[in-house]
Amino acid sequence: MEFSERQARIVEIVKSSSPITGEQIAAKLDLTRATLRPDLTILTMAGILDARPRVGYFLKEQKESSPIMEQLRLLRVGDFKSLPISVRENISIYDAIVTMFTQNVGTLTVVGENQNLKGMVSRKDLLKSALGKTDLQQVPVSIIMTRMPNIIMTTADEPILDAARKLTLHQIDSLPVVEAFIDEKGEERYEVIGRFTKTNVAKIFVQIGTLGKR
Ligand code: ADP
Repeated sequence: MEFSERQARIVEIVKSSSPITGEQIAAKLDLTRATLRPDLTILTMAGILDARPRVGYFLKEQKESSPIMEQLRLLRVGDFKSLPISVRENISIYDAIVTMFTQNVGTLTVVGENQNLKGMVSRKDLLKSALGKTDLQQVPVSIIMTRMPNIIMTTADEPILDAARKLTLHQIDSLPVVEAFIDEKGEERYEVIGRFTKTNVAKIFVQIGTLGKR
């Protein structure tokens, strides 16, 4: 498990002075209990810490993680991805905006022949171009898109946790789900077969939470 810096410090504190209350940990870190709460919850859910009411936190002896974490690690992007919403490089910025509205998405994949990934265009890219003097009907979307090789991608067999980490790490809303292939010139290309977005992550979260409530 990869800890955030703060989570690692919490584990160190609990290791050296357990049992210790949330308030005491917060005081040592010069933070409020409220700020610490998400980290303590996650460390407890992940089976790293245990908490006894009125006693405090201590390290859990056996290091196996909780069943929900085990299950989460088994989920793959391919089972939860959405259909890709793609446009060709030469469509106008204006038409890209219309497509975003009609398809009800926040990000479009831009593709060439054979769904070959060329780039991504997001709401902010389109808003930015609308602020300037660009002729939205004339200028192709390829001018404003973020282009390969700078696109962060995922594959159907990637664990959703890793894909979700890419979304948060790179501060983006959507990953194209791709399959690599070699084109006629012997170069590696990526066929877009889906999209994996923050909405997919939120839906998985809600589904797991709702089922658990039965
Ligand atoms: P929004 O613009 O609606 O906030 P994002 O946060 O996803 O949407 O996009 C921020 C920037 O990142 C935009 O310039 C966009 O082109 C780019 N971008 C979007 N998705 C990706 C991706 N998968 N890989 C690399 N860049 C991306």
